[in-house]
Amino acid sequence: MLPYATIDDAAAALGRNLTFAETLWFNYSAQKSDYFLYCHNILFLFLVFSIAPLPLVVVELMRSLGFQKYKIQPKVRLTLSEMFRCYKDVMIVFFLAVGPLQLVSYPSIEMIGIRTGLPLPSGWEIMAQLLVYFTVEDYTNYWMHRFLHGKWGYEKIHRVHHEYTAPIGFAAPYAHWSEVLILGIPSFLGPAMCPGHMITFWLWIVLRQMEAIETHSGYDFPWTPTKYIPFYGGAEYHDYHHYVGGQSHSNFASVFTYCDFIYGTDKGFRYQKKLLSKLKEGPESNGVQNGGLYNVKSD
Ligand SMILES: [Zn+2]
Ligand SMILES: [Zn+2]
Repeated sequence: MLPYATIDDAAAALGRNLTFAETLWFNYSAQKSDYFLYCHNILFLFLVFSIAPLPLVVVELMRSLGFQKYKIQPKVRLTLSEMFRCYKDVMIVFFLAVGPLQLVSYPSIEMIGIRTGLPLPSGWEIMAQLLVYFTVEDYTNYWMHRFLHGKWGYEKIHRVHHEYTAPIGFAAPYAHWSEVLILGIPSFLGPAMCPGHMITFWLWIVLRQMEAIETHSGYDFPWTPTKYIPFYGGAEYHDYHHYVGGQSHSNFASVFTYCDFIYGTDKGFRYQKKLLSKLKEGPESNGVQNGGLYNVKSD
């Protein structure tokens, strides 16, 4: 809720006219409580997980129309009902664990100082904070994920996420409920270290989920804009982690590639890539050209 009754009051307090975006924000948020604004995240999470993977469902069902060559594990096919089952399981965890956690976690947001007022942050400020959030999340997630690949963590918790050896967009948050909650910590740490505006926080939650959906998409599209982000892992990178499965000690990082490089946990993936490029050079590269990093092994 903003401490101004009118736009004129807000302009007087800022000492200038409101920008277009600030006027929109004023009109939308002035009469809404900060708690209610924070709870928008529940709606955003629901919308992102319900809508963003849909184009990937269409692609999966229409692979014969030219998408087959982008499928990372081309031998794996999922039916519509299998994909819907994944979505349904994710939604159950969402309603029973993630939603309630959002409802009760507001005091922590208040404590770290996420603000809802004016002025709005500049584009540069938002980008700088998002960069910090992604970096902190990536590093913390790397170690927590690596821990979950220990014997206890894997058998009791992380095994569920690895039921999909060839992931799909809907499977990004498909995991044991406790893993979904545990891995919320890395997402929270960045904003806690570098608190910003509620809009930045919303954007962070949405972008992080979009990134997870892309990395679990099962497709390596050459046109994806994320290819231009330095050290970005992407779909092929995380797909390998699922492909190797429970024994995987490779590609733990959630967003970037530098942690796996520094700690030496990307060797299997790099070896596989090298092998693939060698095979592609040869005329007998049967099957490899048809979109499969993993045809090398699975044939
Ligand atoms: Zn894993
Ligand atoms: Zn995964």
